[in-house]
Amino acid sequence: MRVPRPDDSGRGAFFGWLEAIAEGIVESAGRGRPLHRPGSLGVSNQPEAWPLGRDDCGRARFLVLQIQYPTLDDDQTGRFLGTVWEPCGNRACDGGLTHHCLRDAPLWTVYAATGVRRSEALGMKWSLIRWEEGAIELGWVVVEEGNAYRLRKLTKDGDDNAVIYVDQSVMTVLKWQKQRQDAERERLGSAWVDHDLVFARDDFKLYRGEAGGPQDPEKVSARWRTLRTRLKLPEDFRIHDWRHSKVTNDLEAGENPVEVSANVRHHSPGYTMARYGHSRKDGARRLAASGAGRLGLSSLV
Ligand SMILES: [Zn+2]
Repeated sequence: MRVPRPDDSGRGAFFGWLEAIAEGIVESAGRGRPLHRPGSLGVSNQPEAWPLGRDDCGRARFLVLQIQYPTLDDDQTGRFLGTVWEPCGNRACDGGLTHHCLRDAPLWTVYAATGVRRSEALGMKWSLIRWEEGAIELGWVVVEEGNAYRLRKLTKDGDDNAVIYVDQSVMTVLKWQKQRQDAERERLGSAWVDHDLVFARDDFKLYRGEAGGPQDPEKVSARWRTLRTRLKLPEDFRIHDWRHSKVTNDLEAGENPVEVSANVRHHSPGYTMARYGHSRKDGARRLAASGAGRLGLSSLV
């Protein structure tokens, strides 16, 4: 996990920074570690990268729990996906199978449908997909490091069981992505260096012969911002907010918090509920009504 320093520009970076701190704190707190030990948060131990003391961490955590992230509900998400899967229809377009217009549709779908982190989707590997089971093991991540980025193993520290389960419709999207990638690899021949990556760098605007390798996360975010503007989505909605949307919508839909929590690899349902439970007004009302109904309360008075 990269923690942007506080002087990184922009509100998104600042909130991302607060959030990373809070996630780290809560997750390490649950494991009985010192709350302020930088190493336990997966960030650098260097003082310039970690200017905070214990009090600051507490304040940051409090702040994060107060932040209302922008989210899209299920209907908005469905409309979004419908739009990103529309081929451009230009003369050179082949329905999007090789045309660049649908280049990122599978990636955006995976973010919206699974709530994985940006780094986790970019590190997904074909060999870690269990097609029949509908499971994806998240063994690798693509992380930013300073001005560079690299593919590295997911540290098991915070994610003991980094397996997510997805619907077969998501698997169908991944099969489509595989077909597209296979066609691309065939076309590129020796210019493609395979890393087993699902969302590998393609050859669109490729300058340095890195097809098949990891994508630059910042470039992915830049493409996200372009799309966000084009589709007039909330202007502060980051890729990571698909994760917030997914958890919020799953809980709103009455899904089991234990499963919701496990699928986003929170260390406990308590953590999930502490962060997202405040938005469960509808769910809470349904629960109250259901409980009253089972007791036959309305017939008493
Ligand atoms: Zn097209």
